[in-house]
Amino acid sequence: MNTEKKESMRFVGQHGSYGALLFDQRWKDFRKKILERDQHKCRCCGAEGKLEMHHRQYHYSKTLRKYRKPWEYPENLLISLCKTCHQKGHQLYKVPTKYV
Ligand SMILES: [Zn+2]
Ligand SMILES: [Zn+2]
Repeated sequence: MNTEKKESMRFVGQHGSYGALLFDQRWKDFRKKILERDQHKCRCCGAEGKLEMHHRQYHYSKTLRKYRKPWEYPENLLISLCKTCHQKGHQLYKVPTKYV
């Protein structure tokens, strides 16, 4: 296997496992709660419609040696954003990882 592929697989192992987790019922419930809190509007521009969840921090557990599940964060670390604001945000800022 070439290095590039290995690298991308390692990435999937860390953050990309999010992909599968997003189908988890616990995530769906959590997401719904945040969306209701934000009244189904983008917290940045107020757009309604299809919104995404943004984590303001990622938490890495030193004891468990892995990232927290997306729904294991305090609600104040999540905000609802429209796709445009979400992408813009990620271009401008790097989400900090906190070692907990
Ligand atoms: Zn927006
Ligand atoms: Zn995000």
